[in-house]
Amino acid sequence: MSFSSLGLSAPILQALTGRGYVAPTPIQSAAIPVILRGGDVWASAQTGSGKTAAFVLPIIERLVADGPRGRGRFVRALILVPTRELAAQITGEIQDYSQHLSQDAALKTLVAVGGVSINPQMMALGGGADIIVATPGRLLDLIDHNAVSLSHVATLVLDEADRLFALGFADELARVIALLPVRRQSLLFSATFPPAVWKLAENLLLNPTRIEMPSAPADAPDIQQRAFEVDVPMRTQLLRNLIELNGWTRVLVFVATKYATEHVAEKLTRAGIPAAALHGEQSQGARTQALADFKASKVRVLVATDVASRGIDIASLPVVVNYDLPRSPDDYTHRIGRTGRAGESGVAVSFISAETDAHFRLIEKRNMLSIEREQLPGLEPLETIVPAPPQTGGIKGKRKSKKDKLREAAGLPPTAPAPRATTDGTQKTVRPGQEEPKEYFSWSPRMPPGRRR
Ligand code: AMP
Repeated sequence: MSFSSLGLSAPILQALTGRGYVAPTPIQSAAIPVILRGGDVWASAQTGSGKTAAFVLPIIERLVADGPRGRGRFVRALILVPTRELAAQITGEIQDYSQHLSQDAALKTLVAVGGVSINPQMMALGGGADIIVATPGRLLDLIDHNAVSLSHVATLVLDEADRLFALGFADELARVIALLPVRRQSLLFSATFPPAVWKLAENLLLNPTRIEMPSAPADAPDIQQRAFEVDVPMRTQLLRNLIELNGWTRVLVFVATKYATEHVAEKLTRAGIPAAALHGEQSQGARTQALADFKASKVRVLVATDVASRGIDIASLPVVVNYDLPRSPDDYTHRIGRTGRAGESGVAVSFISAETDAHFRLIEKRNMLSIEREQLPGLEPLETIVPAPPQTGGIKGKRKSKKDKLREAAGLPPTAPAPRATTDGTQKTVRPGQEEPKEYFSWSPRMPPGRRR
């Protein structure tokens, strides 16, 4: 299949040729015609499969075909993303793909993200915009300042949609959606769609075309997955040794906390391996700088929290290291998807300690993986795994404590983890050692089920 057979026009084809793209990727072949027709799309596709162009190209086409925008604070296409870096990346792609449009057809694309002054964004919004790429919080700030109105949005994209559905973004996303017109095109893209968000996706979309790219091994990115057993205090040493032994030139290291990003980056730099930290509480300037230095090979290692795990495209990134394991099996998929992109091969290495061994098994099980454990000579772990106590009634996986027995005798409830209220009014219990399920919010369908536009 060729790009021209998908119905894309000459200026866009010229930009694609300029980027050296010969043919559409499977997600592009499947999604572009549907989006051009104005249909809703619900697409799951591997990271690195070309999903940005799959929605950006037809959006540009449709905006150009619809003619120039009217006056006012209106926006015609809204792309919501969970991170500022992803917003900047998508904006760059839109500008690149639309560079050959004629003067009359030129599109105004703006990025609206937090961490930088709001004033330039408000000024830029004068006269509205064709496309806004935004993180939800800053978009709402701009709306509250009357700088923008969503009442004319014709197309909504949620990229990394499952992340946007998760609590944390929940209230903000619900507010944005309430401000959108009911009649619109909605497009959901993500590498992972856990069952917990299916209902939310259904409520947001109208007769969507469901596009699921096969994740058969032949289609999966070429990522070699390795797991090293190591004691917690020896992880930086192991990282240094692996970098030197394998001659890794560019490594993205994931850690659990912002403190760890700086601590590990500092230790590596002191050991002669230039490294930068990236986390959500740095100034936007520092975040952009760290990513730019890494992309330009000014630093060899980028130590990041999960702020870097979604959507970020770093060309030729051969190695991803899970210094701390990700919280969920889906996050594992997103993290390792930073390597092995666009047909390249990559290595994903996870560090496993006695304490995190069970959690890694869960990640393997959920992702249907079985990764051989390795140890680096000289850094073999000394900590041992403490087997879980046998289950003897009471709460599954937890023996009744003396305190609980006394409370029981006194007719009091046990001190077991209290059920927590969820957004749907049900209750759930999270037990120690058990992965805490992500919570998702809900909203009402925008039209009665089954009603067509
Ligand atoms: P994405 O999944 O959108 O992050 O894209 C992953 C990478 O694939 C990016 O570096 C894109 O520039 C590249 N890419 C997207 N579409 C194509 C294509 N049709 N042919 C070759 N590379 C592509």
